[in-house]
Amino acid sequence: MTRRRRIYEGKAKVLFEGPEPGTLVQYFKDDASAFNNQKKGVITGKGVLNNRISEYLMSRLSEIGVPTHFVRRLNMREQLVREVEIIPIELVVRNVAAGSLSKRFGIPEGTPLPRSIIEYYFKSDELNDPMVSEEHITAFGWAAPPDLDDMVALSLRVNDYLSGLFLGIGLKLIDFKLEFGRLWENDEMRIVLADEISPDNCRLWDVKTNEKLDKDRFRQDLGKVEEAYQEVARRLGILPEGGPSDVKGPKTLQ
Ligand code: UDP
Repeated sequence: MTRRRRIYEGKAKVLFEGPEPGTLVQYFKDDASAFNNQKKGVITGKGVLNNRISEYLMSRLSEIGVPTHFVRRLNMREQLVREVEIIPIELVVRNVAAGSLSKRFGIPEGTPLPRSIIEYYFKSDELNDPMVSEEHITAFGWAAPPDLDDMVALSLRVNDYLSGLFLGIGLKLIDFKLEFGRLWENDEMRIVLADEISPDNCRLWDVKTNEKLDKDRFRQDLGKVEEAYQEVARRLGILPEGGPSDVKGPKTLQ
């Protein structure tokens, strides 16, 4: 890592000052954490895989008109992103019951939900990311009602697009978490997708076997964590076997 100014260090990523004003470099670490940092570990190679997977998914989303902070991948572990003002809300979209929803409502994991459900969590390590409602978000000024409308509309588009993309490579998108930021251009503000999209913040199950290919392998000590992330990248066609020139597109299942 070069000696750039470190802006922020999170659990899985570091943000450095970018080469031009209004840009940042997002560095992907191998560190993994779960249950609000109570469980910590290292998943060798995770940073490299998440950098590629997130690059791929953000690029496809951008092509269908979803605005994102992603500019381009710089190297194995770093990508250039636009500097945004992060909205302190984690937006979770769920298609199938799992994780905290299964626990909270006693719904067995794997139960399809009657329709996609959106939940909001306030980003706060001290408070353990409490679940909040739209009322909390707008009353406390974390996001204005039109910003929240944009976040919901974008999240549903992301869900539709990614559900189809993953289904095409034999994976079910069970749930995922998104973060958004405010991007200022002159006096105009736009809500854009930020952070990352990877097996760290998505649940992905094999369509045929229901095998978990995401961070639940780490959370639940299922083993073969790195292999699971690699398998997602392989199915997306972005795991180079003979070097970077060997990257192919997704292998669609019939
Ligand atoms: N998630 C995340 N960061 C968090 C909490 C959840 O990326 O701080 C993702 C998680 O990977 C899953 C979805 O959001 O894909 C829903 O997570 P859930 O609420 O079930 O929480 P968990 O079981 O992870 O505690």
